[in-house]
Amino acid sequence: MDGDQPYFHIENDPRYSGLNVNQGIEPLPSVNDASVKRFLKNKKKRSLSVGQYVDGILKGDITILSQAVTLIESSKPDHQEIAQNIIVKCLPFTGNSVRIGITGVPGVGKSTFIEAMGKFITAQGKKLAVLAIDPSSERTKGSILGDKTRMEDLSIDPNAYIRPSPSAGSLGGVARKTREIIVLCEAAGFNHIFIETVGVGQSETAVHSMVDFFLLLMLAGAGDELQGIKRGIMEMADAITINKADGNNIEKAGLARIQYMNVLHLFPASESGWKPKVLTCSAYLKTGISEIWDTIDQYLDQVKANEYFQHRRNEQSKFWMYETINERLRNDFYQNEQIKKLMEESEIKVLREEISSFAAAKKLLDLYDQIRKNN
Ligand code: GDP
Repeated sequence: MDGDQPYFHIENDPRYSGLNVNQGIEPLPSVNDASVKRFLKNKKKRSLSVGQYVDGILKGDITILSQAVTLIESSKPDHQEIAQNIIVKCLPFTGNSVRIGITGVPGVGKSTFIEAMGKFITAQGKKLAVLAIDPSSERTKGSILGDKTRMEDLSIDPNAYIRPSPSAGSLGGVARKTREIIVLCEAAGFNHIFIETVGVGQSETAVHSMVDFFLLLMLAGAGDELQGIKRGIMEMADAITINKADGNNIEKAGLARIQYMNVLHLFPASESGWKPKVLTCSAYLKTGISEIWDTIDQYLDQVKANEYFQHRRNEQSKFWMYETINERLRNDFYQNEQIKKLMEESEIKVLREEISSFAAAKKLLDLYDQIRKNN
């Protein structure tokens, strides 16, 4: 290029003005406002009345059941109100089911087992709902039942309904919601209910308080400490099943079975009069499944005959009434801003020994009384 000449480029030649970029026009919105408004109006119209929800549930309409379950899970007060009305109307149609709690540490094979046992049940034409209590889950990868593909066959089985754990909230809140979901599932004709939980924390106590039969899955060759199972959980179990009794593991599973039988002998007799059983199975090969089902059947026969079944359900109903009251009172108290502030100050004073624990508690409760009177 010649140093005196301005830089030349063909695009700057007036003869090529066609290469210029036009200014363009304001892009149109990707959705038409009027149609959005129409859609929202229709959507509103489509939201069902309590009666329509109840009718749909009683007819076994899974879409409507799922929508009602979403209302139970919602924390919005108006959703809660509709949900409670639906539950009350469904209550007379519930109770005719078998509720089974299934627990065990991650990796023991709960999903595989539920898939095997679930298919065994639905193959007999029975309807099964699979729910979960997993207060730790925040829709994370590890959340139980979060990923339906873990139960491939069951999730496309028309006789099965799988619903992951309500995610948000305290264990008490999550558990209460699961108990309410049981009511809707039973009203929708699901006469078998599985409730899965991870056997490492407090959640199995919550599951135990809403099921008829509690099944603990274990592995052979891993000490109890390794499996993170507390004695209290073993005491709650109506049956222990050593899973993965296949291949080289069959003998070890048999030995573990004898060990657990010996441990269970040491526990005090249960109120139901039932002696917990220890079995083995391979959820993967689907062996030992019918034996577990026979055990559950035997248990039900026994506790229905001695009336423990109804007694336990009555106790559970009372328990959940008190739990609901406790949860509400606790939240009301601890979530109050004035209480929270005084609580912080009181904690510091108690630790500095400027005030006794009891006096601090009394001050907080007095403030709570005052707040309630003013409301
Ligand atoms: P969960 O975390 O308790 O729900 O356990 P999963 O059902 O996801 O199983 C964990 C792993 O163990 C998976 O790789 C399964 O394929 C495997 N598994 C489950 N049951 C059996 C069984 O009976 N035998 C064998 N060999 N493997 C199993």
